[in-house]
Amino acid sequence: IQVAAAVVFLVLSSVLAYYMANRAMRPIMRSFARQREFVADASHELRTPLSVLHSSIEVVESEEEERLSEFSRQILHDAKDEVQMMTSLVGDLLTLARADSGVLEVNRQSFDLVDLSHQLARTFQPVLAQRNQSFTLHVPETLPVYADAERIKQLLYILLENAGKYTPDGGCITLEIGMERKGKEEHIRLAVQDTGIGIPPEQQARIFGRFYRIDKGRSRQMGGTGLGLAIAEWIVQAHGGTIHLQSTVGVGSTFTVLLPTTIDKAKRNEL
Ligand code: ADP
Repeated sequence: IQVAAAVVFLVLSSVLAYYMANRAMRPIMRSFARQREFVADASHELRTPLSVLHSSIEVVESEEEERLSEFSRQILHDAKDEVQMMTSLVGDLLTLARADSGVLEVNRQSFDLVDLSHQLARTFQPVLAQRNQSFTLHVPETLPVYADAERIKQLLYILLENAGKYTPDGGCITLEIGMERKGKEEHIRLAVQDTGIGIPPEQQARIFGRFYRIDKGRSRQMGGTGLGLAIAEWIVQAHGGTIHLQSTVGVGSTFTVLLPTTIDKAKRNEL
């Protein structure tokens, strides 16, 4: 009887402890949720005035071109850069706030990853060429996937943009797409490699953190928000994948993404 009473007591006290902990946590969770909502709402509300500001500067620039002094022109140019920077920051904040509150969904569709990589090559090649950086694409003939096309594009965009930004003029950037076997399972492998400045070992785990930048001054100068890799990591995780960094200072970095093969055979035929 004593043992039974002890068991009952233990069970009851654990249930009670669980209930109390749950009750105590509720206001904290509610406050976190409100905070996330606030960031999402604030970011959303800031988008319109920023876009109005951007257009207004452009109007003054074009209509008053002849009357503007060199000094005023420079001020307007800098102001436009700042507005652009803030627009990306607000956009990135909004993405992360929505991701945090679970309202950002992964909208999967069938598409060819190789077509997407050619599209990205067309965007990036001219930009990289301006800095004498070469861009090489290693892709199979076709690779049908069932994933969120917009988000995968955003992921590759972030990694390629960083590769270009953190690689000195004349460097090489490579995008490789293919399949990789990991254990028993096959994965889709996306790798962005650069011959850039590299990332010191002690910083490698931290660069995926929000607003974390190795060289704040340099990153800001280059137009970064410090949220790119945090968004990249979210996109990969939302697809059930992993992102891995291999880097050597002064030699370069490779960001490798492994995504589970969620290729629907029926959908493959639709492509
Ligand atoms: P940012 O907008 O500053 O580029 P990210 O989140 O995309 O922010 O990256 C975080 C930091 O990681 C960057 O500020 C930079 O210091 C470092 N980083 C990212 N990609 C690379 C790369 N390919 N080579 C060297 N450093 C990089």
